Amino acid sequence: MQEALRRLRENDGQSLKRMADLVIEEALELTGSKIGYFATLNKWEHLLTMIGWSKSAMAMCSMANKPIVYPVENTGLWGDCVRERKAVITNDYKNCARPTKKGIPEGHVAVKRHMNVPLMSGESIKGILGVGNRETEYTKEHAELLQAFANAAWPIIVEVKEREEKRSKCALQDVCPFFGRHIPIHDVMYRAYVMRFCDGDSRDCAISQVVQKRGFIKVPKDLYPNQTFRVTDILKR
Ligand code: SF4
Repeated sequence: MQEALRRLRENDGQSLKRMADLVIEEALELTGSKIGYFATLNKWEHLLTMIGWSKSAMAMCSMANKPIVYPVENTGLWGDCVRERKAVITNDYKNCARPTKKGIPEGHVAVKRHMNVPLMSGESIKGILGVGNRETEYTKEHAELLQAFANAAWPIIVEVKEREEKRSKCALQDVCPFFGRHIPIHDVMYRAYVMRFCDGDSRDCAISQVVQKRGFIKVPKDLYPNQTFRVTDILKR
């Protein structure tokens, strides 16, 4: 775990989105999992916002580009770790009898095993770190390791978040074609979209890269800020 935390600290100059991805990647490595996610919890501990999925989950899941805000009271089994304020292990998802189990939404990656922990800061829960689909069963030791890692990673994430808030913001923020197209600024989901897709840092934003090189007109309607892998092809057209 110390190695995982050292790698996180080495990368603390990255964007918040990238740091969330790194936390998930390290969680997969620590627990031998195939999929993972990271969600933050608001200060009243009633709204969860999904801010990152593992690459493997994104490749398998058609829902991965959706920034989703969940009232905790409406969450299924994965919200139990907030309600119970402790790690929850589900080694046989299909036959799990927990009353909160709601099943997997259409388009969602198949889950065989699942484990998640509340990300604690003192007595407060700040989010959830979840993993899934380990080949063999998750154990109490895996849960303790993931919990210790999540708690130790949170102060690093907070530092990155605070630094980003001080950093100068993307020059396109008031006219960003992504937000204008996908979500009006007064929409209740606007903050969730910003948190999921835009940290205000245009350096790793596909929308910004296309606008700066070819103008607004060249931004495809289906381009998301996190799809920088598409930029080279778009600029060739
Ligand atoms: S999504 Fe990209 S272009 Fe739009 S405001 Fe955020 S960083 Fe700027």
